[in-house]
Amino acid sequence: MNQLSDRINNLATSATLAMAAKARELRAEGKDIIGLSLGEPDFNTPDFIKDAAIEAINQNYNSYTPVDGYVELKEAIITKFKRDNNLNYTLPQVVVSTGAKQSLANIAAVMLNPGDEVILPCPYWVSYSDIVKLSDGVPVEVQTSIDTDFKMTAEQLEAAITPKTKMIWYSSPCNPSGSVYSKAELRALADVLKKHPNIYIVSDEIYEHINFKGGHFSMAEFEDMFDRTITVNGVSKAFAMTGWRIGYIGAPDWIARACNKMQGQITSGANCIAQRAVITALEADPSSIKYMVDEFKERRKLILNLLSEIEGFKTNEPEGAFYVFPNISSYFGKTIKGKTINNASDFSLFLLEEALVATVTGEAFGNKDCIRISYAASQKEIIEAIKRIKTALS
Ligand code: PMP
Ligand code: GLU
Repeated sequence: MNQLSDRINNLATSATLAMAAKARELRAEGKDIIGLSLGEPDFNTPDFIKDAAIEAINQNYNSYTPVDGYVELKEAIITKFKRDNNLNYTLPQVVVSTGAKQSLANIAAVMLNPGDEVILPCPYWVSYSDIVKLSDGVPVEVQTSIDTDFKMTAEQLEAAITPKTKMIWYSSPCNPSGSVYSKAELRALADVLKKHPNIYIVSDEIYEHINFKGGHFSMAEFEDMFDRTITVNGVSKAFAMTGWRIGYIGAPDWIARACNKMQGQITSGANCIAQRAVITALEADPSSIKYMVDEFKERRKLILNLLSEIEGFKTNEPEGAFYVFPNISSYFGKTIKGKTINNASDFSLFLLEEALVATVTGEAFGNKDCIRISYAASQKEIIEAIKRIKTALS
């Protein structure tokens, strides 16, 4: 008998992690799976960061850290916010957590009451919706399409707002579409939000450095939005540190204090060695990670070229992150190799079984017509994967 809580029974499994686990399982059975499902840089963490961690171990950093992070790390974050984002946060406004995922979970827990609505421009990062639901919030999906580069317009935002709207959450550069909101586009959204002073904004900037056109802009840079914006960031993507589990926020004092209180009861401070290493990562000039960004840019060009040769893959041109999000709906209703494809999940499963390529269904990101392909893989793997997909579909 299932005696688990409704809370966990109603929670969806993370589709990105589930697909990665499935690919791992199939590999263990001897299948040659190419994994393009997980958004995880395939680079090693840079040596200068690893050295800082080894040094921290040798210096006996082994105790609990302050719940909201070492002061030296918070200072490095404040300097980074100023240097890269023109944002002036103070110590009480910064909280370090066990990954940006925990930062987001903290925010939902401290901001949402049952029934509070959170506007999620689609496609959104896979976990937003369930993190919101876990805190009894109600995700309100706003559909966008390739025609607007998968960005929500001011009119769409206005139309989605109700008396119950508490927050809006978005990522830019966006996981999964790679879209980057320009300053003007953010201003248009801010102008709508200005009329609704009780709505708070989560600006997830974890892909900030993986931006191929430059010009990253933070919502909190607008003076009239600073007190209403929670800027979320982390080191997983930019520094190839997914497993180190460090994320952080800059937020109004009262929100930061609440997040600190929340994690004081559920996790305490983040890992001490990882925190010391991240001080070194954030103090480094962003040019130290340019080689990874340059490589992602090459791979983007490669994968867009290769995908353009396959019939029925319609893509936008992602300006950041390391994903493409092709619309593959022209395959719906078709039967290939005896398998009928009725939706994006069927399509993604077809690619796994027939091309041995792992992708993620767009349904996990609030879009039923697309799949997400991560190009955080070698050029050789990308070439082989797209060749297999082409063959399986022809
Ligand atoms: N936000 C976005 C948009 C992401 O893609 C991810 C995936 N890593 C996260 C937050 C969470 O990152 P982490 O917990 O690894 O810091
Ligand atoms: N953020 C990555 C992704 O979207 C990692 C997986 C996860 O944390 O869900 O694939």
